[in-house]
Amino acid sequence: MNLKELPKVELHVHLDGSVRIRTLQEGQDRNIRNDVVAPDQCADLKDYLNRFSLPVAYLQTKEHITRVTKELIEDLERENVIYAEIRFSPIKLMEGNLTIDEVMEAVLEGRKNANMTVQFILCMMRGDSLEHNYAVIDCAKKHLDKGVCAIDLAGDEAGYPTRDYRELFTYAKANHVPFTIHAGEVDIEDSIESALSFGAKRLGHGIQVCHYPKLLDFVKQNQVLLEICPTSNVQTHVVKRYEDHPIKRLMQSGCKISISTDNRTVSNITLTEEYQKLVNVFQMTEVDLLSFQKNAIEAAFLNSLQKETLYQKIARYEDYIKE
Ligand SMILES: [Zn+2]
Repeated sequence: MNLKELPKVELHVHLDGSVRIRTLQEGQDRNIRNDVVAPDQCADLKDYLNRFSLPVAYLQTKEHITRVTKELIEDLERENVIYAEIRFSPIKLMEGNLTIDEVMEAVLEGRKNANMTVQFILCMMRGDSLEHNYAVIDCAKKHLDKGVCAIDLAGDEAGYPTRDYRELFTYAKANHVPFTIHAGEVDIEDSIESALSFGAKRLGHGIQVCHYPKLLDFVKQNQVLLEICPTSNVQTHVVKRYEDHPIKRLMQSGCKISISTDNRTVSNITLTEEYQKLVNVFQMTEVDLLSFQKNAIEAAFLNSLQKETLYQKIARYEDYIKE
C-alpha cells in the first residue's frame, strides 16, 4: 500500500495548530519546539490547548497569516490531499491590530495559488463572548462559497458546555451557514446530545458516542460523520493509548468516519503518518482507507458537482491500484 499516493481528504485541521516549526523558529533565540509540540500525553485537553499560544501570537499580521496558510496548503498538497477544509478562529487572529476583514483577506490570499480545492471553516470559541461568536457567523455568511464553507465550535469542551451555544447555532441555521461542532471529544453525553440536537451533520471527534447506544443509533441513522483525529485523542488524554482508540469499534458498528490530523504541528503528525499508524495498530486495509475518503467527500461542505469531481479522483486511484 502506497500511503503517500493515496488521494486524501482532510476535513479537520486547525491553521494555528499546523504552523511549520521552521517558520515559528525564525528570529527566536531559543528552541521553541517544546512550546508548540504537545508531548505524547498531555495532562488534559486544556494542557494541549496551551501549545497554541506561540502560533497564535505569530499569526497577528496579514503577512504571517498568508504565509502560514500557503505553507499549510503546500504541506497538504505534498501528501496528495485533494481537498481540504482548514479551520481557524478569526477572533484569535485579531488579538493584534487586524480587523476580521483583514484576517479573511489574508487567508484568502494564502490559498490563491493552491492546486487543490481549499475552503475555510470559521471557529467560534467556547468561553468567548456572544458578540464575538455572532461576528464569526456573520463573517462566515459574508464569505460563504467564496472561500468559507462553514462554522465550528472549538475550545475547552469540559469547561464550557455545548448546550450553552444553542442560540448561536439557531442563528447559523436561520442564515443558512453550515456547521460542524467539536463534541464528544471529551466524555460528556450531554455535549454530544446537544450538538446533535442543534442539527450537526458532522462532529469534531465525536468518539465518545461509542459509550451511549441511543446517541450511537442516532449518529448511524442520520449518517453523521465523525471527524476522527486518533493521535490528538491520545495526546489530550481522552483515549489512554492509541491501541485503545474506539475507531475500529465505531467502524464496525456502522458509523461514518473520516480521518484527520487536528493539528499537524501541535500533534507532530501528518495525514500519511496517521494512516500508517492505523494500518500498523488496527490492521486497516486500503479499502478502509478509501472508505474514509469517500465518507469525507460525502460529508464535505461542497456541492454535488464538486463532490463528483473528487469521487472521480478516488475512482481513478482505485482503477490504478487494480492494474
Ligand atoms: Zn479540532
